[in-house]
Amino acid sequence: MALIVQKYGGTSMGSIERIREVARRVARFAQEGHQLVVVPSAMAGETNRLLGLARSLSADPSPRELDVIASTGEQVSIGLLTVALHQLGLKARSYTGFQVRILTDDAHTKARILSIDDANIRGDLNDGNVVVVAGFQGIDERGNITTLGRGGSDTTGVALAAALKADECQIYTDVDGVYTTDPRIVPEARRLDKVTFEEMLELASLGSKVLQIRSVEFAGKYQVKLRVLSSFTDVGSTDMGTLITFEEEDMEQAIISGIAFNRDEAKISVLGVPDRPGIAYAILSPIAEANIDVDMIIQNASTEGMTDFSFTVHRNEYRRAMDILESKVKPAIKAKGVVGDDRIAKVSLVGIGMRTHAGIASKMFGALAGEGINIQMISTSEIKTSVVVDEKYMELAVRVLHRTFELDKAPTQEKMKP
Ligand code: ASP
Ligand code: MG
Repeated sequence: MALIVQKYGGTSMGSIERIREVARRVARFAQEGHQLVVVPSAMAGETNRLLGLARSLSADPSPRELDVIASTGEQVSIGLLTVALHQLGLKARSYTGFQVRILTDDAHTKARILSIDDANIRGDLNDGNVVVVAGFQGIDERGNITTLGRGGSDTTGVALAAALKADECQIYTDVDGVYTTDPRIVPEARRLDKVTFEEMLELASLGSKVLQIRSVEFAGKYQVKLRVLSSFTDVGSTDMGTLITFEEEDMEQAIISGIAFNRDEAKISVLGVPDRPGIAYAILSPIAEANIDVDMIIQNASTEGMTDFSFTVHRNEYRRAMDILESKVKPAIKAKGVVGDDRIAKVSLVGIGMRTHAGIASKMFGALAGEGINIQMISTSEIKTSVVVDEKYMELAVRVLHRTFELDKAPTQEKMKP
């Protein structure tokens, strides 16, 4: 017997019929003897509808009131799901975030969970109940209702699993797991059986938007075993989706797990800057002061005391960054020029095997060269190699890398040998 937290997303809760399906799936696990805590999202579209109502009254509604309004979507869901569970003969009780006492900070519309009181839930589980807890919401110290940011029910699920020391947190959604890359670009993309937390963070932050990123960080920190599965398989399905796990447990991990990409960045180069202490600071501190995040940074070796300095920013902040550089930085450091390009894409190869396998980066660069794709910038971390290329070659780059690293094939023991 295990204690399982199951989170169901909005599409899984999208209609009365879908809610009955969720109840049947929960019942199946209960009948197998497991203890269950179920965290539903609001019914599909409901959170948008509620926020839209508020915005139809005011262009700038108070965040505190937005939380009062948006949190009701999940309150309806827990009540409906609990009634559906009763109809199947199960004992079940629902709780809103504040009834549990999911304590958060007071950052309305993006609050963070501080602690969870597990007394009610434990008591009900011990009495043989399925416990249904509203996702996405909590309460601050002063009793105000808070919400956790869009997609926040994932984080509720993981936080409950951590607080209850659950055996597993299952996230049911409308995709059946995490893929090697976006199947819309590479039809042969393969579903991963397992991926590590670190890889998942890279894949998620780079655009594989399956889970709220904060929930993955949370799961990594509290060592919650997390699984992504589809709620659109039949209730009796034994499909296990993708397990997001810890490296130590798993020696059969592939060298490369996936390819992430995005078109959200722009690159900027400051040309002909003197190569002396303080230059990188002089360029980037006005950017930081304007609250513009910088991703990749490259500085060349200098010739005759001069060098070029390049970095990337979010595309939405490209204009602002260029203006700051032209008006403030260029005159101050006597740079020769500032040039930029916002038609770039970043493509990243992600895999923990990079730590122990040499030659991955050169194989990557070779594959791109073979297609005539010019690499404009490169950055690496322990488990990721990213390149910036012209945006028009992005899909080609993703496809050629997927093929080169044979990501359509399941990893074998052979591939793991150092
Ligand atoms: N209902 C909330 C949203 O739409 C929370 C969630 O679904 O995770 O963002
Ligand atoms: Mg979601």
